[in-house]
Amino acid sequence: MIPEASYDVIVVGAGPAGSTSALYAAKNGASVLLLDKKREIGSPIQCAGFLPDASEVQALLRDARLPDTLKNYPDSCVLQRIDTQRLITPNCNIKEFAVRGTVLDRRRYDQFLAEQAARAGAELMIKTRVTEIEGTTIETSGIFGKHKIKAKTIIGADGPNSLVAKSKGLVLKPKSRETSVALEYQVRDVDIDSSALEMYFGKDFVPGGYAWIFPEGKDRANVGIGIRSGMAQKGISAKEYLHRFIRDHPLAGSKLKNSIIMNVIAGIIPVNGAPERTATENALVVGDAAGQIFATNGGGIPPAMIAGKIAGETAAEFAAGKCKLEEYDRRWRAQFGSALETSVQARQLMDGIMKSDTLMNAAFKLISPEQMKVMQCGKLPGPVRLGLQALNRGKK
Ligand SMILES: Cc1cc2nc3c(=O)[nH]c(=O)nc-3n(C[C@H](O)[C@H](O)[C@H](O)COP(=O)(O)OP(=O)(O)OC[C@H]3O[C@@H](n4cnc5c(N)ncnc54)[C@H](O)[C@@H]3O)c2cc1C
Repeated sequence: MIPEASYDVIVVGAGPAGSTSALYAAKNGASVLLLDKKREIGSPIQCAGFLPDASEVQALLRDARLPDTLKNYPDSCVLQRIDTQRLITPNCNIKEFAVRGTVLDRRRYDQFLAEQAARAGAELMIKTRVTEIEGTTIETSGIFGKHKIKAKTIIGADGPNSLVAKSKGLVLKPKSRETSVALEYQVRDVDIDSSALEMYFGKDFVPGGYAWIFPEGKDRANVGIGIRSGMAQKGISAKEYLHRFIRDHPLAGSKLKNSIIMNVIAGIIPVNGAPERTATENALVVGDAAGQIFATNGGGIPPAMIAGKIAGETAAEFAAGKCKLEEYDRRWRAQFGSALETSVQARQLMDGIMKSDTLMNAAFKLISPEQMKVMQCGKLPGPVRLGLQALNRGKK
């Protein structure tokens, strides 16, 4: 494939943020090139794949306008339907609430999203890495050769180590570089409740984060941990923590003891919100590249796609001379910016508490299951905020 010399919009990265940006830019009349360095879209996977149903997302983010591809996708992308979420405290108390959603096959879902973008008119170039960005010209290298290509807008949907963000001065604030390290296994022969997501807390198993069992079928699951490296015990790796969880956790251990590990997945999750600016006069960042991820649970697919829709629409309007590109920044913050910020505040409050299992158990006592549910998507009910602040003060 030989790309054109120039496009209205070049999108770097064909994950959920990039493919959604490309879809909505193309739908709105822009010429679009969508690039990814991967040889196969969506592979290797770097995700546990839980996606709440659109109705759940909309109920929590009332001002957000959801892309169609977040609402409707083929059954072939679904590994398992979920109706319950269960949180397990350090002392093994269980809190649960109803949640409707699916554990996705991320490889298939990402391919579905890229296909929708291509069908809307975006050109898709896989196994092509963007190596340099100079003004509005990118240099690429990959299976289709080396190219220099120009665009009116460069969209950085290239994940947490975004080259576009670095080149355009849109990097996360120093504080915001804080990340969670995630390691997970796809396993078989586990004895699980296949319609429930389970999240486990406790500093000896998951310092500063949680471990999860996300069902991928009757006896299959994605088992993983997201830990904060700064809060882990010195000398203990993420792998050791994950093995300890699978082997020794008083509740999870018996469910996972026969696990056959089929796939190892690792990645990082930016958990400190968005940078001050997410757009310049000719570039913008979206998804993980913009820190658009709920810091309370590491859920990044819905915000990446909601912002992707706004990014694509704004880039197309900009190409037609109807608005400035910086409008993107205002638009996404109006739809879910405050929820994102609140999720970071909730995470910061939980950080102090997560250092002690006693405090964690106390915190879980004061938060109802319904409050836990809304906290995941960037709400922090007043009484919960006060309770967590009091627990933080009490520990000093
Ligand atoms: C272990 C783990 C588990 C997770 N589980 C969940 C979950 O259950 N639910 C949830 O909602 N979120 C989850 N997340 C978060 C979620 O995966 C991300 O928030 C989401 O994928 C963000 O989408 P994105 O399009 O911004 O980035 P990505 O999906 O990371 O896509 C970025 C793309 O850019 C490409 N790229 C990067 N640099 C270049 C370059 N220079 N040139 C060309 N291409 C480039 C990459 O190849 C990649 O395809 C998890 C994350 C991790 C690490």
